[in-house]
Amino acid sequence: MIPAPEALARLRDGNRRFVSNVRSHESLTSEARRTAVAAGQEPFAIILGCSDSRVPAEIVFDQGLGDLFVIRVAGNIVAPSQIGSVEFAADRYGTRLVVVLGHSQCGAVLATIDELKRPTVNQSRNLHSIVDRVRPAVEPLLRREMQYEPEALLRHAVRANVCISAGHLRHGSDILEHLIKKDGLIVVGAEYSVETGLVDFFDGVPDGRSNP
Ligand SMILES: [Zn+2]
Repeated sequence: MIPAPEALARLRDGNRRFVSNVRSHESLTSEARRTAVAAGQEPFAIILGCSDSRVPAEIVFDQGLGDLFVIRVAGNIVAPSQIGSVEFAADRYGTRLVVVLGHSQCGAVLATIDELKRPTVNQSRNLHSIVDRVRPAVEPLLRREMQYEPEALLRHAVRANVCISAGHLRHGSDILEHLIKKDGLIVVGAEYSVETGLVDFFDGVPDGRSNP
């Protein structure tokens, strides 16, 4: 089992490689690697990220086959099936780091802002279920001056949405709560910049540093 702080260091190193264009893709996706993980997996981190095509977790953290247990859903929201997936990986594979990975320019967060400002009639019930889960991150911001500054509003809403998802994972499951209290599981919140490629770990980081 890889302790959470070490797992976090690996992700930071990987993101540094990605940003500086030094990738290890060849070895990480090689036939040898495939053969090695065919018998079993021990992913060192669980990533709950957005489905956005610009934020594939394995690429932005420069990781390969068998390294990450990835759950992707628009707006990196936490519904019961996401909690179940995290419980499954933490319990079955002993993974001790969970990262909620939001990102700049998130379309799901933007759609929620638009919906709250100008509600649409007959919005798809399924899409509504996503907007509904992002809503608590956006609503308080719409009561502030920020509501008139679209860019600042989106930036703050993305981060608030990450914090809310991370909070749900920390407190919405007896299994995860137990692992956090007794077994070194940590849940951190992070934001990926689609502009720079950098990941900023800003919520729940054990050593308190948001960036190295
Ligand atoms: Zn997104």
